[in-house]
Amino acid sequence: MKTIPFFDYQGIYNRFEKEFQDIFHDVCSRGAFILQNDLIEFEDQLKEYLNINHVLGVADGTNAMLIGLIASGIKANDDILISSHTYVATANAVKLLGANPIPVDIGIDGMICIDSIKKNITNNTKAIMPTQLNGRCCNMDLIIDLCNKEGIQLFEDSAQGLGAKYKNKSAGTFGTFGTLSFYPAKLIGCFGDGGVVMTNDDDIAEKLFMLRDHGRDHNGVVKGWGTNSRLDNLQAAFLSLRLKHFHEDVDRRREIAAIYDEKLSINNNVKLPPAPSSSDHFDVYQNYEAEFNDRDKLKIFLEDRGVKTLVQWGGTPIHHFDDLGYGLSKYKDLKNTDSFFKKCLMLPMNMSVTNEEIKYICDSINEFYQS
Ligand SMILES: *Cc1c(COP(=O)(O)O)cnc(C)c1O
Repeated sequence: MKTIPFFDYQGIYNRFEKEFQDIFHDVCSRGAFILQNDLIEFEDQLKEYLNINHVLGVADGTNAMLIGLIASGIKANDDILISSHTYVATANAVKLLGANPIPVDIGIDGMICIDSIKKNITNNTKAIMPTQLNGRCCNMDLIIDLCNKEGIQLFEDSAQGLGAKYKNKSAGTFGTFGTLSFYPAKLIGCFGDGGVVMTNDDDIAEKLFMLRDHGRDHNGVVKGWGTNSRLDNLQAAFLSLRLKHFHEDVDRRREIAAIYDEKLSINNNVKLPPAPSSSDHFDVYQNYEAEFNDRDKLKIFLEDRGVKTLVQWGGTPIHHFDDLGYGLSKYKDLKNTDSFFKKCLMLPMNMSVTNEEIKYICDSINEFYQS
């Protein structure tokens, strides 16, 4: 029996093996390891691609949020509203500053719900940090209007959002800062951890520049507190190559999603991801996450047919991490998130899966509901 992996990690390397080896040789033979030109070139490419003023390579997507929050003036005990349907990293970044990550509900599109945000805003709320989930942007107009009305900041966890757009504006460029993650399974992944933090604000950019490198300014003088959160020059060089080919990846991901959508739309037991063709949204499908009746049985059924699937975040949204202090009943009223997490499942979505395999996956799913 053939197996279709959920993600093909070796495939990232195999796809451009020769080019990666040349890059490795080039960078290493120059001894260019930390904060060198390859990093600056990658940051410049991203600035142009995303249409934003400042992009800074950092250690990973979690550190990107952490130093973004510090640079934005977030302090201990401030409340930051986040979606409960996000990686624990979003909450971690807030909590490590001593601030409070407050999970709110999702809407029918799986993205943070504006009504739930409104319900949770208090005098102590300093910012909203939505997650641009699965390669899709939230409805940013509603969120921006609310932030302006309430006088609070907007940050984006756009770790999954490279290339996603809302009204032709890129994920990560709407608020005080946005982030990207280059964890291997992300839209463009590197050979380890990596990330960026981005902003249009010159002052925030200067703070981020120092925060990521021990508080040193452009002259190497220590001017403030900082940490070590730098994107390796070598990883940046690999990522530049990935970014050059990224338009092909986006086309392919949207093509895969279209096949899933078409073949699964006939099935009443499946609720597809939000429609891709709405004129406001350009989705890049970091993940293909849909809702399935009898999800757990379906997952086993597919596994028996060699198809590996994944429930995002191991099946635990933020408000169910009781060990992190979310055991209190006041955190338990997120009904849409709860019903979503009974049904959600991600199907293989990567640059290695073939059309034939996608059809096999869909046929298997349709067969499951007939039996
Ligand atoms: C991957 C991810 C992160 C964390 O990124 P790392 O680079 O692994 O630190 C944060 N938020 C979301 C939504 C993610 O998917």
